[in-house]
Amino acid sequence: MTALVPLGRLRADQLDLLAAVADADGDGRVMVTPWRSVVLRDLDLPALAGASDRLAAAGLVVDPDSGWVGVTSCAGRPGCARALADVRRDAGRSAEVPGSVRRPGPSAGDTPRRREPLSVHWSGCARRCGQPAGEVVEVVADAAGYRIRGGPGTALLVPWSDGGGPGDLLAAGWGVLVDAVAARRSVARRRCRDGREAR
Ligand code: SF4
Repeated sequence: MTALVPLGRLRADQLDLLAAVADADGDGRVMVTPWRSVVLRDLDLPALAGASDRLAAAGLVVDPDSGWVGVTSCAGRPGCARALADVRRDAGRSAEVPGSVRRPGPSAGDTPRRREPLSVHWSGCARRCGQPAGEVVEVVADAAGYRIRGGPGTALLVPWSDGGGPGDLLAAGWGVLVDAVAARRSVARRRCRDGREAR
């Protein structure tokens, strides 16, 4: 079984739980992947549902349709002195909004499950540290607001709230931001020559 670790930060209690589940129901090992996920192998079939529920309750992502899938971020505030926004917080808030990710529709000979939305990367400044290679929706904080690029449509600025500083968005701006990101992500990734979706 595979579980996504939101933004790649695995807490001690989550690691303890993974180790306990691997010991009790799997082969005793927890594999960490380069894609911000962990894998438990050889879980007993009857134990799968219970393990999945426990991991989800601990904040790990086991739902392939979760808004967390395909979301990455730089360190942002307060970890980086250059950051203009707490992008990890905002990436998480966005991922938790129902409908924040819309799976692309099927095409001929394809199935909806196989068409993954574009990834989104949140950055606290124009350096865009950690942004994945390839096609991605980027949300970058600058002095004026969050700038969204990638996917269909031209670049969009969602300005910071009047009277607030960089990093402040009121509910209205937040709604525009979440909706714009979801719309731009809802384009299927391009396919490689072998038929796999490009990452
Ligand atoms: S993208 Fe900017 S804010 Fe984010 S970690 Fe890199 S330098 Fe810091």
